[in-house]
Amino acid sequence: MKDSNNFGFKYSIEGNKQTEIEAMTNQDFEVKSLGECTVTSPLYTAYKNTPMAEGLFVDNDDRILYDPTLEGFKKCLKEGTDPITFEKAGPREKIFFSPSNTKAAIVTCGGLCPGINNVIRSVVNGLYYRYNIKNIVGIPYGYEGLIPEFGHEWVDLTPEKVKDIHMFGGSILGSSRGRQNIERMVDTLERNNIKMLFTIGGDGTLSGNHVIQEEIERRGLKIATAGIPKTIDNDVNFIHKTFGFETAFTTAAPIIRDAHNEATGAYNGVAIVKVMGRDSGFIAANAALAMPDVNFVLVPESEFDLYGPNGFLESLKDRLVKGHHAVVVVAEGAGQNLFEDDQNVEKDASGNIKHQDIGLLLKDSISKFFKDQNFEATVKYIDPSYIIRSEPAIAADSIFCSSLAMNAVHGVMAGKTDFVVGRWNMHFTFLPIPTATSSRKKIDLSGELWWSVLENTGQPYSMKNEEK
Ligand code: ATP
Ligand code: MG
Repeated sequence: MKDSNNFGFKYSIEGNKQTEIEAMTNQDFEVKSLGECTVTSPLYTAYKNTPMAEGLFVDNDDRILYDPTLEGFKKCLKEGTDPITFEKAGPREKIFFSPSNTKAAIVTCGGLCPGINNVIRSVVNGLYYRYNIKNIVGIPYGYEGLIPEFGHEWVDLTPEKVKDIHMFGGSILGSSRGRQNIERMVDTLERNNIKMLFTIGGDGTLSGNHVIQEEIERRGLKIATAGIPKTIDNDVNFIHKTFGFETAFTTAAPIIRDAHNEATGAYNGVAIVKVMGRDSGFIAANAALAMPDVNFVLVPESEFDLYGPNGFLESLKDRLVKGHHAVVVVAEGAGQNLFEDDQNVEKDASGNIKHQDIGLLLKDSISKFFKDQNFEATVKYIDPSYIIRSEPAIAADSIFCSSLAMNAVHGVMAGKTDFVVGRWNMHFTFLPIPTATSSRKKIDLSGELWWSVLENTGQPYSMKNEEK
């Protein structure tokens, strides 16, 4: 059976359509570095007389296989090619920055996601305790905080300041959307003698990080930038899991349970639960697998029709006739094809398309469809998406956030730049930002995850009329 994700290719992205344009090569996975590492890491000094010295440290040529299957290995042997590999994250014996006089900054941008505060806390503690970097500032309200005219006062971050922040959702630094002037942001970094910038955010934040890095390079500065990818949707390619995602579907699961109770409480009761997932339906799919009372999972990857013999509404009616209740989990980006084409497309301050409310459309269409047929049904619509994204991280995500943050610190200390920390085949990795943002991870509709969804829900493979 195929992997459940479509890894391995660059795509051009246009709206929700991705077109494969070329195969990736190992060059796409080479992480940039500011220069030679000549400083002995304080971590090495601390552990050099212990067995840790053997096991803990990672060389730059330690790599993680992209494709761990025997077939992949045989294909490389047959073709005489090197397998695609990612740089292994972790502490290096020699580092680039010496702790004295080194100042670090942390910024969080884009929407909220469970675990941001855990990441901030662990970056601060990692820098402070492991690498003796005591000068750490928090940049408030996203990239706005790097533009002096906004007047957002920077926050000194110490272990004392961050000791309790993992208890809370949101970001203690706040966030913002909207483009800021790149030259002026780099002026701010330069003027304040910032040597390392940690950006916590989604694709937009990481793209911002990359252009900041380009400007840093153009000026010949030695400032390292690291991204910790924040996407509750788990839609970053070449990364198996992003932080906040597990919390999201774990929080959604009991809401779906309650929605099921609502649905069963009425004759032909229908409960619709909307979850996040702008372009990828991983939260919807996983929440439905975690709470398998769901009858329909609607995701952006699988277009569907409302009406017609094979459309969603007829399938829903079938389900009600057989079971007298139904639970529908819908990702926010699903069914966008159902809205009128001539509408004005709304965008947020960062230029992201604001999706139409598919949950409301479903509620209204279902109610009208059954009313017109004198078919008794009760429809309830539940939208917990903003509650979910401001939840504190669950235990598994807390651990994950700490490791991501610690590895970002290791990478930056070793002079790596323009990179994100990822997770692949049980290893933490470093990936170049342009590669991580070149395409979005989506549910493979011919893969195991989607198959499990179909098996658990009983919904048809396609609810589009012409495809059956
Ligand atoms: P999410 O979409 O998960 O909420 P995000 O990081 O993608 O998070 P955005 O609002 O799209 O959120 O972007 C965050 C910040 O990065 C914004 O201030 C945005 O203007 C900035 N940004 C995005 N792309 C670029 C770019 N190419 N150059 C400069 N800044 C950018
Ligand atoms: Mg985004």
